[in-house]
This record gives sequence, structure tokens and C-alpha cells, in this order.
Amino acid sequence: MKEILLLKDGEIVLKGLNRRTFEDVLKKNIKNVISPLGRFEITSAQSTIYIKPLSDDVDWDEVCERVARVFGIVSFSRAAVCEKKLEAVLETAPKYLEKQLKIAKTFKVEAKRSDKSFPYKSPEICAETGGVILEKFPHLTVDVHNPDVTVYVEIRDFGAYIHANPVKGAGGIPVGTGGKAVILISGGIDSPVAAYMMAKRGIKLTAVHFASPPYTSPRAEEKVVRLLQKVSLYAGPMKMITVPFTALQEKLRDDCPEELFTIIMRRLMMQISQRIAEQNDCAALITGESLGQVASQTIGALGCTDEATDMVVFRPLIGMDKQEIIDISYKIDTYETSIEPYEDCCTVFTPKHPRTRPVLKFVKEAQERAGFEPLIEEALQNLKITFIK
Ligand code: ATP
Ligand code: MG
Repeated sequence: MKEILLLKDGEIVLKGLNRRTFEDVLKKNIKNVISPLGRFEITSAQSTIYIKPLSDDVDWDEVCERVARVFGIVSFSRAAVCEKKLEAVLETAPKYLEKQLKIAKTFKVEAKRSDKSFPYKSPEICAETGGVILEKFPHLTVDVHNPDVTVYVEIRDFGAYIHANPVKGAGGIPVGTGGKAVILISGGIDSPVAAYMMAKRGIKLTAVHFASPPYTSPRAEEKVVRLLQKVSLYAGPMKMITVPFTALQEKLRDDCPEELFTIIMRRLMMQISQRIAEQNDCAALITGESLGQVASQTIGALGCTDEATDMVVFRPLIGMDKQEIIDISYKIDTYETSIEPYEDCCTVFTPKHPRTRPVLKFVKEAQERAGFEPLIEEALQNLKITFIK
């Protein structure tokens, strides 16, 4: 039996005149993830995207698994394609949906006829299809409010499609339609989740990671690469830029008051990330900060961090509990990698008593007195680039 995949696009529908652009980006993103699995034709009409295989041996389970991670899709279903004739529909529906109908107790039929030349109206299609299903599966009863299986019959311009119980898609809006931003990525639990959340809002990511060898090991950096590979299953391929941070941290240790180490380090990260963002055509910074989680994430500390950059900073986790963040990290399969015990540059030279209410004026004075600019320049000259696929 010939099958296709029908995808419903979501918020795209709200975008008025931009809708075409959104749909084009979505189709391109879908193509990128499924093209290694075979040749497909991807088209769209009436807020539905159609994936039609051009070869026979399609691994549909794998196609569905990949499509389920593409942002911009609300739901999708595998559907049988049949001739645009009532007899063909009545023959195909019970056969194609046999598995689901056998184990269900209740069902209903919904019909949609966008090809108005089809000689039967929707209520007639429903009644006829419901009739043959009841004949073939006499244990079933009809429940129009809360059925176990909803059988959809769609009579469209290009053909008739039969499907049931659509699968939930990834939601969000297509990556690449929301602009570009830099995600400050550590090896922790939070920043990969923040990356996923902003990609879900359509943002194309460039990752920036600060490494302080020999205080941090190559294994720690390699862990970040693995985390980004998991994130890229949703966010698409991205560039990772590693910043050599050792000299800056050593200067911080030598020339700044200990209780301000963390806050000045956070400011340096923001300033360097802004410069990298500008070089890479990115208009915002993203961090995994969450209010009150640690000393550097109090209102006062975040205020001092923010002042270091005039770029907009997205903190998608700001109002979330740790457990809520962990739940998402399980869902996107980054949790197990995140908890591997490698050191991060944030844990190098941590002060015993960090300021939770730093005074901006003193922080800025201490930072200026130390004079980080030549070392920032040097770090920017020595960036390492890795492509995450
Ligand atoms: P995470 O779980 O993401 O590491 P966290 O709760 O441990 O976050 P911090 O370590 O203070 O908090 O880091 C706060 C944010 O700063 C991180 O979410 C990340 O965006 C950024 N960050 C921390 N360390 C690094 C690093 N080595 N390279 C790039 N960004 C970093
Ligand atoms: Mg961390």
C-alpha cells in the first residue's frame, strides 16, 4: 500500500504574509533531516506538508523519529494513499487501520473534502466509512466525543488519504526563521536545555564554549561536543567556537578581589561572547541561568552580568525549577552526558564566599583596574572552530 506522511504546521499559520517563507524554511529543515534516508518529494498545501517517498524501501519509523524533532510541526500522521473514489476509500480504510481498530473499543470518522468535485459530501463519506468499519469490526461502537481511534478521510486535490490518531510533533517554529544567536554552552545540565528551548523559538544557534586548559581537560571539551550533537538533532547543524580562557582566569585570580571572581568572570564571558556574536552575525546571547540557583544568579549578580553587554540576553530557564530543567534534559537525552564528572572553567578558582549582592560600581572598578583588554584580544585571535553535525 502506498503511504505518505502528512504534517500539520503550527504557529506558522499565524504568520500572515510571511507564511510562505516560514513554510519554505520548514520544508528545507525537514529535507535536511530525512534526505540521508532516501529520496522524498516535500510539498505543501492548505497548512499541510506532504512527504512523498520517491523510492519503495522507506524506513518509516526512522523518518517519523526524525520528523518528530523538527520544530514547526504540531502533529503528523502516516497515511495511506488511495484512488479518489468512494469504493477505494471504503476498501482501504478498514485494511490500513486494521491494527488500531482491532484493539480499540470506540471510534469515529472525520472526513474532509477540499476537492469539491468529489461527488460525496463529508457527512456521507463519514457515514459510509463508519458503516464498513462497523461491518468488519463488529466489536466497535461509535463515540464522537472521546473515541479511541479517530479515522480521518481526506479528499484532497492530489488524492485521497486515510490516517488515524496523529502523533504529536515538536511544536515551536522552524529553526532559522527567528534570527541567529550565540548560546554560551558549558558541560552542565542547564545550557543544553536553554539551547534547545531557543532553537524551538526558531533561533539558529552558534555555540561558544570557554575552556581553561590545563585546569579543564580535553575530555571536558569533547563532552560539550557530544552535548551539542544531541542538541543539533533538534537545532540543526551548528558551529562551536572554543575560547581559550586560561590566561584571563589566571589574571582574574591574581589581580581581582576573590569574592568578585565569579561575577567578573561572567562579565568577561558576556563581553567575549558579544564580540563573537557580532563576528558571526548573531543578534543575541543565550545562557542557562536560572534565578537564585547559585550565587552568580541572584537579581543583583545577573544585573552586573547584564551590564557587561549591550546585546539582548535570553535566559529561557530563568523562572524554572531545577527539576523542570532536568525533565527537559531527559526528554532531549542530554542528562546522562551532562552529569559526567568533568570540570568546567566556572569551577576553577571558585571563591569561598562569592558576593551574592555585588555592587556594580566596585565590580566595574575591579575589572578595569585589572585591565583584561589585551588578553581578550589575544583570546579572540585564538578561537578554535568545530562543526557540529
Ligand atoms: P550549566 O548547567 O549550564 O553549566 P549552571 O547552573 O552550572 O549552568 P553556571 O555554571 O554558573 O550555572 O553557568 C551559568 C551559565 O553560564 C551557563 O548556563 C552557560 O550559559 C554559561 N557558562 C558557564 N560555563 C560556561 C563555559 N565554560 N562556556 C560557556 N558558557 C558557560
Ligand atoms: Mg555549570
